[in-house]
Amino acid sequence: KLYNQVQDLKGNIRVYCRVRPFLNGQQNNMTSVDHVDHGSITIVTPSKYGKEGKKSFTFNRAFGSTATQAEVFADTQPLIRSVLDGYNVCIFAYGQTGSGKTYTMTGPKELTEEELGVNYRALGDLFFLQQQRKETISYEISVQMLEIYNEQVRDLLSSEGLNKRYPLHVYLYQNCLYLHSSQNGINVPDANLVRVTSTADVINLMNLGHKNRAVSATAMNDRSSRSHSCLTVHVQGKELTSGNILRGSMHLVDLAGSERVDKSEVTGDRLKEAQHINKSLAALGDVISSLASKNAHVPYRNSKLTQLLQDSLGGQAKTLMFVHIAPEYEALVETISTLKFAERVA
Ligand code: ADP
Ligand code: MG
Repeated sequence: KLYNQVQDLKGNIRVYCRVRPFLNGQQNNMTSVDHVDHGSITIVTPSKYGKEGKKSFTFNRAFGSTATQAEVFADTQPLIRSVLDGYNVCIFAYGQTGSGKTYTMTGPKELTEEELGVNYRALGDLFFLQQQRKETISYEISVQMLEIYNEQVRDLLSSEGLNKRYPLHVYLYQNCLYLHSSQNGINVPDANLVRVTSTADVINLMNLGHKNRAVSATAMNDRSSRSHSCLTVHVQGKELTSGNILRGSMHLVDLAGSERVDKSEVTGDRLKEAQHINKSLAALGDVISSLASKNAHVPYRNSKLTQLLQDSLGGQAKTLMFVHIAPEYEALVETISTLKFAERVA
């Protein structure tokens, strides 16, 4: 019995690794990626003796630099279906700045249909499946879009001025109380919750969210790499015959860059940002690895990120971590630290 529980728990956490291609004709540059298999990545490591060594890391799935958005999404699709069955799902993009997190979740700056990221495809699937089931279940789908910067939560869908009601409060519920709470599973009730009925609705909202994010970025230059952004989809279904209500949610999280900042080189705001990022990514790693090793105590309260996602990490919830690495040899130190993080949560 216990063995099965452990298996189930492990089965609820998946780690996929994706290697970004070289950008703008840098193909001939040195790379740290030796080869990519279906489920592992082998990197080249410099040894002390001047010769190169190799080290492999295994995952549930590994994607090489030629993998398309559609291929990456194909392995994500089963999770999307389970949201409509009433599960909570969390999908993360982890990696150093420039490794391809936003590309995976959203796509490139100039979006084409082919290059649409996980967010758009996931919502598209939800709408498609909702239609398919409409004879038996009537669904309502709503989204929130939040940013966590320096451990403070901000509403990216706010049309009433960015800083009104900022920072937002994250409510914590005990597991069982939570199900019966009046908040319908929404733990940031002060953030806009917008009903959506089509992918076009979602694209408009995401554009608004990105615009709001960019507004603050001009004041503080590229803030997007130093904050977490989270698109949350709330799904409520009513079974037409029984009247039963089922609820599912999906958090799509583009994490802050995981790169280590040299403490001797930054001060003031940058140092504070770096400390907040380190703290919250470490807290996330702690939560996921303690779930994977079935610890009784899961330290959700150590960061805003894990508080925000607590109902979607652990229990019956399903977690997918996309870990990104850059192919450049110069990125090796960060690549190794990223792969170690992945190994810890897998
Ligand atoms: P991050 O969000 O981790 O900082 P980005 O997603 O912005 O990184 O990626 C950095 C650059 O590389 C962007 O110009 C992006 O469009 C491009 N890029 C990332 N991954 C891929 C990929 N798999 N295929 C093509 N271009 C990519
Ligand atoms: Mg990004």
